[in-house]
Amino acid sequence: MIAENLHHVQTRIAHACARAGRAGDTVALLAVSKTFGANAVAQAHAAGQRAFGENYIQEAVEKIQALQHLPLEWHCIGPIQSNKTRLVAEHFDWVHTIDRLKIAQRLSEQRPAPLAPLQVCIQVNVDGGASKSGVAVEEALALAQSVAALPRLQLRGLMCIPELAPDFVAACAVFARARALFDTMQQAGVPLDTLSMGMSADLEAAITSGSTMVRVGSAIFGLRD
Ligand SMILES: *Cc1c(COP(=O)(O)O)cnc(C)c1O
Repeated sequence: MIAENLHHVQTRIAHACARAGRAGDTVALLAVSKTFGANAVAQAHAAGQRAFGENYIQEAVEKIQALQHLPLEWHCIGPIQSNKTRLVAEHFDWVHTIDRLKIAQRLSEQRPAPLAPLQVCIQVNVDGGASKSGVAVEEALALAQSVAALPRLQLRGLMCIPELAPDFVAACAVFARARALFDTMQQAGVPLDTLSMGMSADLEAAITSGSTMVRVGSAIFGLRD
């Protein structure tokens, strides 16, 4: 089941790339395994998936430890409280949800020396939702420049989680704002290679608008409770 779902998602990505005139290997797939057990992750790995996204730190750390024998890449895609930064710095490879300098500084200070720098994205609030996490678009460049200067972090790009739009065109318009910011930052001299956007319901729109990494959960693992 998981193998079939994965294959179906890969086909969706390939079709979206083809329609957008993009090469198929320009979009990476992050499998979002939150609420699913280590066994589901192992099944996805057996079907060829290597990168996994998790929202809840404690739950993730248990899975990471249970699956240490597999060569997996772990991405933190959930909100991070100050008291959880050490666990994140010690166990994850990537963090997509940097929205304040203080959290980034703690992650940099707490990243263990033997590990590679933590790969990070700035989370941007592109649709202006007041309750949404993510830095405001106008503040994103300054935050990115500060984060890029931290010694144990490597800034890779931007991430966004817009509300599900009513249709494809509306979704593309919101994702295009993230893409425009991404381009502006690159022009300002901040080197970025990752635009993390698009989920099970809207990955086609995200890819059309320039996503380089889609985060897909339910279309691979099934519906969550
Ligand atoms: C849960 C989650 C996803 C995956 O959502 P699906 O709709 O299940 O594909 C992607 N990104 C973030 C930040 C999430 O929390």
